Amino acid sequence: ARRGWRDRLAGSGFARGLASIFKRHPVLDEAFLDELETCLLTADVGVATTTAIVDELRRRVGKREFAEAGALLDALRAELVARLKPVEQPLDVGAGGRKPFVILTVGVNGVGKTTTIGKLAHRYKGEFRSVLLAAGDTFRAAAVEQLQTWGTRNAVSVIAQGSGADSASVIFDALQTARSRGTDVLIADTAGRLHTQGGLMDELAKIRRVLGKLDPEAPHEVLLVIDGTTGQNAISQVRTFREAIGVTGLVVTKLDGTAKGGVVFALAREFGLPIRYVGLGERATDLRVFDAAAFVDGLLP
Ligand code: GDP
Repeated sequence: ARRGWRDRLAGSGFARGLASIFKRHPVLDEAFLDELETCLLTADVGVATTTAIVDELRRRVGKREFAEAGALLDALRAELVARLKPVEQPLDVGAGGRKPFVILTVGVNGVGKTTTIGKLAHRYKGEFRSVLLAAGDTFRAAAVEQLQTWGTRNAVSVIAQGSGADSASVIFDALQTARSRGTDVLIADTAGRLHTQGGLMDELAKIRRVLGKLDPEAPHEVLLVIDGTTGQNAISQVRTFREAIGVTGLVVTKLDGTAKGGVVFALAREFGLPIRYVGLGERATDLRVFDAAAFVDGLLP
């Protein structure tokens, strides 16, 4: 499983940057530490985390603790993993025997929300759970079609209404259907048009209210999907959604290929919200349960 992470992450700008530093600086000197600092900052790890890590390594280099680059690499790995370990909290959709376990998926357009829902449907089906999808992004006809494609591919039904339908009503309808069918997991899509932010947040609040009428504990998970290539922008998105409807878990997508993957560290430090899954590619199997050590290993040379 670890190997898969490396295959997907090694080509990312962040991993290539790190590899290049270790290659060009066999001697652990100030130039090495300087470049490492720049690399972490460029990848959007954040100033506080970068400074703390580089200062600690500098202190240990000064005490000649590392005989060679390999030893420093191990220390760097440990520092990075320690920062992500607290947010490695997998989502257990079987918890508490809720039927259905309701996942409300939120996020702005283009982050990979619909794709993530499709991948989740694939995953849960693979765990022998019954899944129902709710096409709550009623604003974009393409989103409904895309969800239906994933549904057909995974033999999962999709509850949808005509375009322009009320999102809360589609999701309410889906929860009723899921209950009557004894479905294990209901995954609801929502709109993500940011230019009408007030309207979007009102709509999400309404969905929460309406679901609560059928099940006071629903949604059991509010999963915010974040695009890992947007760097610091991701931070403000988490803040916005957290304040507007509450967020219980994150998915960070598109970490394959990006030079900005360090944002995962910034998110962990800033919010401490569980990172449930990360997207390492476009295939169904490329959505991985977040594993701090596997992620860091995938980034390091
Ligand atoms: P939505 O508007 O948030 O629903 O976004 P989509 O699900 O339509 O995804 C937007 C684009 O991002 C699509 O081309 C997806 O294939 C792509 N995408 C989603 N997740 C990932 C990922 O983890 N890695 C890569 N490389 N592409 C992804």
